Amino acid sequence: MSMLTAHHEEITIRTKGNCDMIDITRDVVKSVEQSKVKNGICTVFCVGSTGAITTIEYESGLLKDFPEAMERIAPRDAVYEHHLRWGDGNGHSHVRASVVGPSLTVPIINGRLSLGTWQQIVFVDFDIRPRSRLVQVMIVGE
Ligand code: ZN
Repeated sequence: MSMLTAHHEEITIRTKGNCDMIDITRDVVKSVEQSKVKNGICTVFCVGSTGAITTIEYESGLLKDFPEAMERIAPRDAVYEHHLRWGDGNGHSHVRASVVGPSLTVPIINGRLSLGTWQQIVFVDFDIRPRSRLVQVMIVGE
């Protein structure tokens, strides 16, 4: 007989904004260990529409390449209807966050997140100012 369990944790992050990329792998790994789940899934979700979660090889080259690619996809100085309507200057932040996406699901196999050796989980803050951010971690499995 198998028993499904759910384990929830919250991660709070202070960011600098402007494409600040923060490695949260350690926190997520800790949550998986706490959960005692051996086989299941771990979902990591960013609360807020100008933040995103993805994976990357967390090294200095990509930490420059990624923001530059985002600048090409949704340039800061383009015209955004969102800004024309609300005047908050972060139209590009919202578009980038939607493109990258607010959540990530990683399989847990034999008690471990099945991440590659050079694959870290990152929170990206696309907003234009420093913020305190909430990340929800939900682990379901047996
Ligand atoms: Zn806005």
